[in-house]
Amino acid sequence: MSEAAHSDWTTGDEAIVYQRCTSCGAVQYFRREFCAACGSNDLATLRASGEGRVYAATLVHRAATAEAREHVPFKIVLIDTAEGFRMMAHGAHDLAVGDRVTARFARFTGRLVPYFERTVA
Ligand SMILES: [Zn+2]
Repeated sequence: MSEAAHSDWTTGDEAIVYQRCTSCGAVQYFRREFCAACGSNDLATLRASGEGRVYAATLVHRAATAEAREHVPFKIVLIDTAEGFRMMAHGAHDLAVGDRVTARFARFTGRLVPYFERTVA
């Protein structure tokens, strides 16, 4: 797989990537050398669709840093993705648990971050 396929929002590209274990099929969001489920090091890095469902949502009123304070209040969501892994991200203020969502990308304290909005049916 090419290097380009591995780049994601953490390096400034509008993509969410995850790993799938070739041995047992488990998926994981955080990049590791080994599968957290079975220990295999045979992992494929794949690009996620950006589709998912809200598992939890919190409106943040107090920011940890002066930079983040300019964005308050902002919504932090946990998303159960269509691919089966769970990720934390920013989201629209009106999101609620169970909503179907689609990722886009936004700037937060100068960095590109995944930003989920309700899927338009
Ligand atoms: Zn595995």
